Amino acid sequence: MQLAKLECALCGGQIDALGDFFRASGDFLPAKDPLVPYCNVPLHWSCYTRWSERPRFAGLYVRAWIDANRKNPFWWGVHRDERVYVSVNPEQPVEEVSVRLCTVGSDIRVPLAKWSAWLADCDQVTPGLHPVEREALSQVLPALRARFPDDHAVVHAIDPDEKRRARPAAARGRATDSGPTAHTP
Ligand SMILES: [Zn+2]
Repeated sequence: MQLAKLECALCGGQIDALGDFFRASGDFLPAKDPLVPYCNVPLHWSCYTRWSERPRFAGLYVRAWIDANRKNPFWWGVHRDERVYVSVNPEQPVEEVSVRLCTVGSDIRVPLAKWSAWLADCDQVTPGLHPVEREALSQVLPALRARFPDDHAVVHAIDPDEKRRARPAAARGRATDSGPTAHTP
């Protein structure tokens, strides 16, 4: 098997196919968006980190995941604010929490059973975090610790009606739409 040679769409430099790079998969941008060429292609983490369009690109990518998860029977959105989107799949064999930072977009997977340990020391539970992830995490961890001190709190935040509340596409883009937790009293 021959591996295709990969090039970073931001710098044109070579990327090791087995190495560590960022890729936002899916057609999550409007067809005429100038950032379309950066979807579905590999980007060096260092290039992606420095990229001035990263916050907008990542924000739209995370929004697409929020929409996709509303239709996914396995993943439940439990928290969303302007900085982070948290979803959970509590069923075996997955039993993981997914943390997506709105300015990064990567999928940080935390085993549900290690959620408390992760809140206390992310690097120990999810080694290999990139500096840009670590920096963004440092801004959201206080809120996550307060809201979800343990894995039970994460699972308890699942709204069983979430999948029944599919809203029209026109309503999803509103800034006031705070996602799956919008109806929590
Ligand atoms: Zn690059």
